[in-house]
Amino acid sequence: MPLSEFSLIDRYFAAQGLQRADVALGIGDDCALLLPPPDQQLVVTLDTLVADVHFFAGADPEGIGHKALAVNLSDLAAMGATPAWATLALTLPEADENWLKRFCRGLFALADRYGVQLVGGDTTHGPATVITIQAHGFVPPGQALRRDGAKPGDGIYVTGTPGDAGLALAAAYGKTTVGAAYRAYIQTRLERPEPRIAQGLALRGVASAAIDISDGLAQDLGHLLERSSAGARLEVDQLPLSSALTASLDRDAAIFTALASGDDYELCFTVPPERTAQLEALATDWDCCCTRIGVIAAESGLRLVRADGSTFHLERLGYDHFG
Ligand code: ADP
Ligand code: MG
Repeated sequence: MPLSEFSLIDRYFAAQGLQRADVALGIGDDCALLLPPPDQQLVVTLDTLVADVHFFAGADPEGIGHKALAVNLSDLAAMGATPAWATLALTLPEADENWLKRFCRGLFALADRYGVQLVGGDTTHGPATVITIQAHGFVPPGQALRRDGAKPGDGIYVTGTPGDAGLALAAAYGKTTVGAAYRAYIQTRLERPEPRIAQGLALRGVASAAIDISDGLAQDLGHLLERSSAGARLEVDQLPLSSALTASLDRDAAIFTALASGDDYELCFTVPPERTAQLEALATDWDCCCTRIGVIAAESGLRLVRADGSTFHLERLGYDHFG
């Protein structure tokens, strides 16, 4: 017998074990009733993933569940927020129980790891799988990591190794080949991005500005610069390139991929010179690398410079090097 909308919700979405004390009423009524801490700002974000636009419809459902939440937690991380609650709007072409079971496994494994409780949502039938998650978190007033705080002289940093997800996509489209030793690694980087929550929290009071990289480092740093009314000099030879990236592409293509491909969900942030030592001490405890890649400048524009002082020409943002 086909699964009804309501038994589907009960079976899959109301079943999360986690129960937060600040959820007075969760899934099952017309609305959730939530108790935000009185001394904190509520931080709210929402992202949609569309089948065959943001993920391959045939991809591992566990990875899809993970990623749908991870991209939202990444936005909370970029604000320095502590994650708390989520809502989920799910449009499905069919109620495939095997898909739902695995989707929920990926979603709830990540949610439980960060103490995020699913408190509501909507489930609809439609022509393609569309997943929208809204995530909520908290930050003490005045301590959010915004895009508009960077000042000339601040160092520019990035977590992790950008470009890995772009490499996985290029490989999936047959535009480049990746050695067998790196395939599982880049697939994980594309399908299971790890939201940099711990890093975002540690950067409160340290970073002057922050953004998460969803559309490419150069483009997203550009958004931060625009909001901060500043420019930047970026040392392309300082970019932290994974061995998967350097083994698969020539150096310029690897740099291009790290700068211009999306889906990394790393943090890019700026730190004033007087807090550099504090950052370096903090970052030694992180489970990902943290690399200084440039400096904020007073003149607008993003200058990409090689170690020998020459300019690195990024054809244009969104240019497909593999196309
Ligand atoms: P209504 O018609 O009043 O909007 P629904 O029948 O859509 O309510 O949903 C019933 C309950 O199940 C609500 O509490 C809603 O938040 C929850 N819900 C529905 N779909 C989902 C989902 N995909 N994930 C989490 N909760 C859901
Ligand atoms: Mg409804």
